[in-house]
Amino acid sequence: MSVRAALVTVGDELLLGQTIDSNAAWLGRQLADLGIPVVRGHTVADSRNEIQEAVRASTAVADVVLVSGGLGPTPDDLTREAVAGLLDRPLELDETLLVALEARFEARGLDRLPANNRSQAQVPQGARVLRNPHGTAPGLAMEAGDTLVVLLPGVPRELKGIFEGELGELLTERFGDRASPVRMTVIHTTGIPESLLAERVADVLPPDLGAMALAFLPGLRGVDLRLTLQEKNESAAEAEFDRVAQGLQPVVGPYRFESEEGDITASVLEALAEHGATLATAESCTGGLIGKRITDRAGSSSAYLGGVVAYANDVKTRQLGVEPDLIEAHGAVSEVVARRMAEGVARTFGADAAISVTGVAGPGGGSPDKPVGTVWHAASYQGRTVAELHTFQGNRDAVRERAAQAALFLLLRLLDGRV
Ligand code: ATP
Repeated sequence: MSVRAALVTVGDELLLGQTIDSNAAWLGRQLADLGIPVVRGHTVADSRNEIQEAVRASTAVADVVLVSGGLGPTPDDLTREAVAGLLDRPLELDETLLVALEARFEARGLDRLPANNRSQAQVPQGARVLRNPHGTAPGLAMEAGDTLVVLLPGVPRELKGIFEGELGELLTERFGDRASPVRMTVIHTTGIPESLLAERVADVLPPDLGAMALAFLPGLRGVDLRLTLQEKNESAAEAEFDRVAQGLQPVVGPYRFESEEGDITASVLEALAEHGATLATAESCTGGLIGKRITDRAGSSSAYLGGVVAYANDVKTRQLGVEPDLIEAHGAVSEVVARRMAEGVARTFGADAAISVTGVAGPGGGSPDKPVGTVWHAASYQGRTVAELHTFQGNRDAVRERAAQAALFLLLRLLDGRV
């Protein structure tokens, strides 16, 4: 039987939207790595009742419940008292903790421990104290029937310090035999909408996925397919991922790019390095976004020479050699102009490869035959140029983001022989 965790994060500031619940995200990742996946999370107000209800519900479904926040010295810090009440463990003064607290305050030059802080030396009867290397409120671990309940301070640095210290050891000791890490792999795609991808994936998905879970994670730059599997043995998990990924390949292959962090610029730079090729960019509606994304990557200077932001038609003509009568006849947002921009910037910069983008980012500037979101982009490599037309949805930022991504993907496919 697998081990399950539940989280209770406490604090009005989380519910008021003032603080993002980063503790839940961080704990979720750590627990998955330990093989104790979180099956439920509650976020509750600084209220005795809410804390007790959430902890009660969590102990019913989980082997371990982690509660974060509300261990401080102020009257709105209610967690310790609420959980002690729920579990029928009266609070007792822990002398060792008190001495340590007093020493801490003395070291800060204060001769007396503020009365409020004495509450932090109160421990529910029988609870184990987990050392906090970065603050005054220690973690507190106690049994509630078969479930382990652990109280942690809300300050992220303190919570992490306790987890990475005594709590991690405690969890491994107690659950290590039964726990299997949640392993995952991500297949990155771009250029296909989530719904269409899901439909096609459903057609080829191997029927025996077993315990493996598949999730679609869409974003402006594409859709990630995440495969997760709880499995003790790393190479067994890898073999399973490979098997399923191979089954998906006919569908995802045309849209796939390989990159550890999921950034296509890494794949593009890698492909350029493999070809020993240099790159230049000519950008109109993306205004330098592609150049920025490429130069965000350390080491990009080995391939990237530079670019032209060719916003005005005159710049397209003077800097890139796009003939004015072509712009006149076809418009600045056209296949021929995109092609000429890519070829022109490659020539001007003496680059082996080039990307160009010209489009209508909006909100104004659209027309019936070229509505907002119409984007032509081209990629050129050693004299061969390919171009693509897209009509992107979304606001100005979304159109530009999608256009930059699509142009980078076109170059990647040109370099690796997919177009
Ligand atoms: P302490 O009294 O030691 O500061 P505490 O246990 O009382 O800790 P809180 O008072 O609840 O913790 O929160 C302390 C700080 O930590 C606040 O600034 C709060 O915004 C932040 N914090 C609390 N919970 C979370 C959370 N779930 N994710 C991220 N930050 C949090």
